[in-house]
Amino acid sequence: MKIVVDASAIFAGFTPEGSNEYITTIDSISEIKSKKFRDTIERTLIFIEIKEPSQEFLDKVIAKSKETGDFYQLSENDLKLLALSMQEGAVLLTNDLSMQNIAHALDIRFIEFNSKNIKDFIIWKYRCTGCKKVYNKFIEICPNCGNQVKKFPVKKNSLISKNQKKK
Ligand SMILES: [Zn+2]
Repeated sequence: MKIVVDASAIFAGFTPEGSNEYITTIDSISEIKSKKFRDTIERTLIFIEIKEPSQEFLDKVIAKSKETGDFYQLSENDLKLLALSMQEGAVLLTNDLSMQNIAHALDIRFIEFNSKNIKDFIIWKYRCTGCKKVYNKFIEICPNCGNQVKKFPVKKNSLISKNQKKK
């Protein structure tokens, strides 16, 4: 699985796991490096590839965020992380509600994590209230039966190291 991570995920103690491919933007790295806890973070950064989104994808994200009204809640780097997720077909790791909202609108899958208990990664899935069909991406109305689709959380623990210990 390809995952785009933001700086807040790394500050919250996110640990890369071998079977996934991690990506972030150069701005996220600068944000991380400007703060403390260098030691653990230097080790984490080895596993994260730096990429920048193309202007084409950035423009799509900006247009959509203006449509939904989230544009003014988002930093330039937030927009870039969203564009990068789209460009790479990656899952976005974020707890930011505005970013999640845009991710919904742009069909980008995202994972939410609980910073108090980093082991509880949540992947949202979507279930039809009528026929109970499950979708991976957000849609408002079930194409199968026409009923409303609601999101529900699926816990996903395999994304992080199980041996992670706090100091
Ligand atoms: Zn249905």
